[in-house]
Amino acid sequence: MAAAEAAKLAWGETAITEMVIAHSSPAVTVVPFTQKAEPLSGADWVWWWIDGSAAYGMLVQAKRLTVTRKRWGFNFDYRTKGSIRLQREILFEAAATLGVLPVHALYLGTGDYRGWVPCPGKHRKSRCPECMRRTISLMPALLAVDSMVDDAASTYEWSVALEDLWKPPSTGALLVPALERAMSPDLVDFLKERPDGTRAVVRSMVDRVLRARAGQFSGVATRTQRSAVTSHDDLGHVFQDLPADTMHGGVRYLNHVLEPLTYSPPDYVLEVMAGDPDVESLQAQMPKAVGGGGGSWWFRHLAAATATAAFHDRHPVGLLAPPG
Ligand SMILES: [Zn+2]
Repeated sequence: MAAAEAAKLAWGETAITEMVIAHSSPAVTVVPFTQKAEPLSGADWVWWWIDGSAAYGMLVQAKRLTVTRKRWGFNFDYRTKGSIRLQREILFEAAATLGVLPVHALYLGTGDYRGWVPCPGKHRKSRCPECMRRTISLMPALLAVDSMVDDAASTYEWSVALEDLWKPPSTGALLVPALERAMSPDLVDFLKERPDGTRAVVRSMVDRVLRARAGQFSGVATRTQRSAVTSHDDLGHVFQDLPADTMHGGVRYLNHVLEPLTYSPPDYVLEVMAGDPDVESLQAQMPKAVGGGGGSWWFRHLAAATATAAFHDRHPVGLLAPPG
């Protein structure tokens, strides 16, 4: 991004995404699919975070930051040319089909591009390392609403630096008492402790959603809702019987964020981790109509880290990339 800016070139999401994938090597193996990809998808990547006790998948849509005077914009409500549907709806639908969390990878550009607006870390006036770590930040798509994310403060508050995603949280999640009382003891423990590995990744996401919920004024719905029966159930949800409290749009946000956390990943991910995956068989396992609009949707790239050592280094273990 810095090189492009220095050359006065506007960088695009696709180029940055390809560079991120390329730089993930050798921790991540990329397997390009030969079949022609339909240019129809809500997302750029599928990521799987896996350790010895749990797996968590994300469907990731890249969004570049545009700074106009001091206003920040991402155009989350983007409508694909010729489509009547919002990219956001397609992303949510595809993520639900895959049993993963919809997420935005925010490409924030250099600190210069952002005008070195203070970050929430220990901000330094020149070349702040915390600001630089924020170059790629992840935000649960649930919070990505254009009217709510329109400046530096809101962007930083609802997102986490990709490099910090799997760091154990420094504090417990923000829990309103009514919500805490409706939760199972193991869920409360998870939200108060400092988990590592896959569970730390989940905390990075759920903590931001809970903070957003705590900032809303509507009362907390405390009845619990057993996870819906899906094809992913045989993988075993780590948390069930979640409080049915909702956020904007009526989304049961705890189900939304925590259901993708399972004890083991789906077969197609295991196949990639075993090495030398059969691309055609992998493709056959993908949901056919993911992406909506009646079109098929294929993954163009498929990547995964194979070494167990990668877990301990807190590196991403699985990475899949459908067409950008
Ligand atoms: Zn800073």
